[in-house]
Amino acid sequence: MIVVLLGPPGSGKGTQAKRLVSERGWPQLSTGDMLRSAIAQGTPVGIEAKGFMDRGALVPDEVVVKLIADRTRASDCSAGFILDGFPRTIAQAQALDEMLVLRQLKVNCAIQFEIGDDLVVRRLSGRRTCVACGSMYHLETLKPAHADVCDQCGASLIQRDDDRTDVVSKRLSVYHHQTAPLVDYYRRAEKLTVLNAGQSPAAVTEGLSVALSSWVT
Ligand code: AMP
Repeated sequence: MIVVLLGPPGSGKGTQAKRLVSERGWPQLSTGDMLRSAIAQGTPVGIEAKGFMDRGALVPDEVVVKLIADRTRASDCSAGFILDGFPRTIAQAQALDEMLVLRQLKVNCAIQFEIGDDLVVRRLSGRRTCVACGSMYHLETLKPAHADVCDQCGASLIQRDDDRTDVVSKRLSVYHHQTAPLVDYYRRAEKLTVLNAGQSPAAVTEGLSVALSSWVT
């Protein structure tokens, strides 16, 4: 099954995608994680992407489409995958559809994580991420046992540069202008389910599970 998770930064897509990985075994394909890893490794893609990411802008479509086209060829994607943070523009969605048609596949469903901007800002400004394993924490709602130390691997927790308040506003504006039109794109294709992402993570997991069951073909 091929599932698109659609929603603004901070809507909980990444958290829920990780839960789906452990429950259903489909890999989570996060273009944000792939780009951060490319930056950490200093690859040409990382060098190109960094400037866009630091200012909260989107990385060019052709760069992320190629990342996804390559990644989805891996054998662990054969039973399906979860797209987290891709597509983010209509052009990316069209490129994805074209790529899948050539492989006799299709997107089965798109789940929209619906949430207000004020809650997103609160969530992202308190978010802390492990430099080593990527585990997420929150200063108010999901504190690590020891301040600034990852419970999972003991490495340091940092605030991502693009989780600073000024960059978050820019990312939200980019979401509303460039990514939100995908809601209509998938609604017209009759593949959309809207989920209230302002609920507790457990309630969102439950809603997501119900939504996915209704799309199983
Ligand atoms: P994320 O971790 O999904 O919030 O992504 C962090 C940043 O990576 C975004 O603000 C963009 O700069 C870039 N990025 C991630 N996915 C995409 C995408 N599908 N298209 C363009 N840029 C992306």
